[in-house]
Amino acid sequence: MKILTIQRLGKQYQKREWALRNINLEIQEGEFLVLVGPSGCGKSTLLRLIAGLEESTEGKILFHSQSRDIAMVFQNYALYPHMTVYENMAFPLKVKSWTSQKIQNKIKEISDVLEIEDLLQRKPDELSGGQKQRVALGRAMVREANIFLFDEALANLDANLRSQMRYELLSLQKRIQKTFIYVTHDQIEAMTMADRIVVMKEGQIEQIGSPKEIYLNPKTSFVAHFLGNPAMNFLTRGEYLLGIRPEDILITVEKKKDCFPFLVEFTEFLGTHSYLHGTVENIPFLIKIPIQQEYKKGQSLLLDFPFTKRYYFDITTGQRIPLSRITESKESD
Ligand code: ADP
Repeated sequence: MKILTIQRLGKQYQKREWALRNINLEIQEGEFLVLVGPSGCGKSTLLRLIAGLEESTEGKILFHSQSRDIAMVFQNYALYPHMTVYENMAFPLKVKSWTSQKIQNKIKEISDVLEIEDLLQRKPDELSGGQKQRVALGRAMVREANIFLFDEALANLDANLRSQMRYELLSLQKRIQKTFIYVTHDQIEAMTMADRIVVMKEGQIEQIGSPKEIYLNPKTSFVAHFLGNPAMNFLTRGEYLLGIRPEDILITVEKKKDCFPFLVEFTEFLGTHSYLHGTVENIPFLIKIPIQQEYKKGQSLLLDFPFTKRYYFDITTGQRIPLSRITESKESD
């Protein structure tokens, strides 16, 4: 079921260039939607418009649910440091003049779900990062919010804690089944957490889809380059950009017509696999290889890019060209 619809939404700050233009998006109840894109592409602006913190310049946002209670969860969780967890959660309800019995029941219900019953008497500085996040969510949940917005929520955590928190947030979202809209510039967060990813570029939506759809079927060279770690390799071929992912490249001894000479630079060992760094036509190239394979700096190899694993893009527009058109043009050559 749809929870909100965004139609032709645009935002211009102080009559300058458009920060956001022609955004059309339907968001489903209970989905984990990730807005991803490079810094300045308009992700936070879109989130703030949904939160009602900014006015749109054009277009509209329609809410389909009865309750419009939206909760924004900030990077630093914004907990009151002098209050206990219980008081932090009670605060928004006291503001609404709930009775203390009603507040107590609500906090009990929510802290059960979030498994924070044992933390209710602690102050924020006695909590771990993960616990703080759960409390911040709890404070939003007591208000019965049904849409949770996160702006770079994990950005200032170290790598280990970040991946643990990703997992916590994801399992929490699956348990409470509320709509999460999550902004990040980190493609790994997008890939690992999203039911659907919205890839943004220069104030517009480039592509919407599941992580798998977007990874396997990028519509543009921008999306192909942005999603995937390490990134897709690219070569120029006349009016096309030819892309191939590091895991799709074969190293061959056979000299076929359509092979690419590769000059080895170094190997990056990662335990489960290695990445072989080098160049094709003087362009940096990366190949995923099994750890058993070893090559020396300066060695020449031949690469085979299986046809069905290739991605072709129009060099001027960046739009994906279907492989069928590539075959046709080859035959007519
Ligand atoms: P992102 O979250 O993807 O980094 P933002 O939504 O913050 O991008 O910004 C999109 C564009 O709007 C940027 O060019 C930015 O400089 C501009 N912008 C954002 N907020 C303001 C503001 N309050 N006033 C003027 N320009 C802004």
